[in-house]
Amino acid sequence: MTTTQTISDELMTALAAVRQASFVCQAVQGRLVSPETIEKKDKSPVTVADFASQAVVCALLGEEAQVVGEEDAKELRGDERVLNAVVEQVSQSMGKPVSVETVLSWIDRGGAAAPADGRYWTLDPIDGTKGFLRAEQYAVALGLIEKGQVIAGVLGCPNLPNHRGGKGALLIAERGRGAAILTLDDEISAQEPVAIRVSDLVDPSAARFCESVESGHSDQDQSVQIAKALGITTEPVRMDSQCKYATVARGEAQIYLRLPTRPGYEEKIWDHAAGLIVVEEAGGTVTDITGKPLDFGQGGTLKANRGVVATNGPIHDQVIAAIAKTS
Ligand code: AMP
Ligand code: MG
Repeated sequence: MTTTQTISDELMTALAAVRQASFVCQAVQGRLVSPETIEKKDKSPVTVADFASQAVVCALLGEEAQVVGEEDAKELRGDERVLNAVVEQVSQSMGKPVSVETVLSWIDRGGAAAPADGRYWTLDPIDGTKGFLRAEQYAVALGLIEKGQVIAGVLGCPNLPNHRGGKGALLIAERGRGAAILTLDDEISAQEPVAIRVSDLVDPSAARFCESVESGHSDQDQSVQIAKALGITTEPVRMDSQCKYATVARGEAQIYLRLPTRPGYEEKIWDHAAGLIVVEEAGGTVTDITGKPLDFGQGGTLKANRGVVATNGPIHDQVIAAIAKTS
């Protein structure tokens, strides 16, 4: 995947949709996230950005697209203040006034089912909402699933450093065609996507690992034990969202650990589809904590799996063995 010409039309549309939604998130972050909102733990900016991002992605993917999104417009219908802010953001983004009903209908397009033999997009309009509120890392994540397999994905990472030394990256992957990075700011048609590769490290003791900032999302006590078992002495890279997958895919870390913090939690497909294919197409390996492939044919969650482990590949089995030893 070295030129935009070799990206399928369908994925070009997805890329444009994620890019535009990323700009929506940036606009909301710039306008609404302030020290006061953080102090008050006011979640409304993230709610506005979440719905506006989902509306824009669903609108640009088109009426025919099946989208399994994180958000559902039900709660929004009863909250006039947030709804008005969403409509304003979406109108700004589309460059024309968009009616309340149209915005709600776009958000509702994200309510498709996730049949095992179907073909559908899965969208997290803002993955890493805590990171968004802290003005740290978050992502717009869009994956394409067919018959239980992720076949393509796009990650929009507005705060991630890009390959040109600026801020804001788009990552893209298609099954069998590799993974690549673009800047978020430059026009897509003016760029040559740059292929990305995982690290070729074979010695796990020299690995860097990433995990969630939120200790409720991944067991940070167990990760200390795993690092010890593998002989890793460097501190973990903690960041929110699927930017962790992007970090492994670019070779800046070799391990992403997502260790269950409580029995019964089922990972959501939109939290992993896009990230998984970016890592796999960059040459890495993604499984659950037992080494089993992630099964995207189980509906909206990965109910047949426990946790997630992504690595550069060569060290994967050793990481899985270390998890078994510390469980
Ligand atoms: P991260 O930014 O990687 O910490 O992950 C953010 C995602 O964690 C959110 O999109 C939620 O869907 C998901 N999440 C919520 N609760 C849990 C949990 N108990 N374990 C794992 N993930 C969770
Ligand atoms: Mg999420």
